[in-house]
Amino acid sequence: MATCIRYTCPHCQFSVDGWSDGNRYLTDHEGKRHYFYHPSDITEMRAFAEEQTGGVMKETEYLAFLKERCGNEGDWLCLRCGCQKRRDPKHDPMQCPECGQRKLRSTFNLESRTCPKCGKGIFHGEVGAIS
Ligand SMILES: [Zn+2]
Ligand SMILES: [Zn+2]
Repeated sequence: MATCIRYTCPHCQFSVDGWSDGNRYLTDHEGKRHYFYHPSDITEMRAFAEEQTGGVMKETEYLAFLKERCGNEGDWLCLRCGCQKRRDPKHDPMQCPECGQRKLRSTFNLESRTCPKCGKGIFHGEVGAIS
């Protein structure tokens, strides 16, 4: 179950949706990311792992595979230029590709931050959709 918080700037109405869940992925042999979503993610991740390693896996093998290949991308907002990017903070450089600043902030954690669009308003979050 994912919770969404919508942060809105009272000054310019710029709004950003922040989700509690990230985008879970496994990397293949070439390092390409494959995403898995609820509710089929558990079986699909296992099938992907077995396809990658070429056979049925023992539980311990599967766990080792996950440890090596699994990551989670969250949504990030640049507090300088206002662009939104998906990033895995454990694996990706946390630098904004648009303006080059290290100002990325999780979109689920924007309360009381200054709006990057107008530079005047302060974000305020309200709980939105729950799926
Ligand atoms: Zn604003
Ligand atoms: Zn930026």
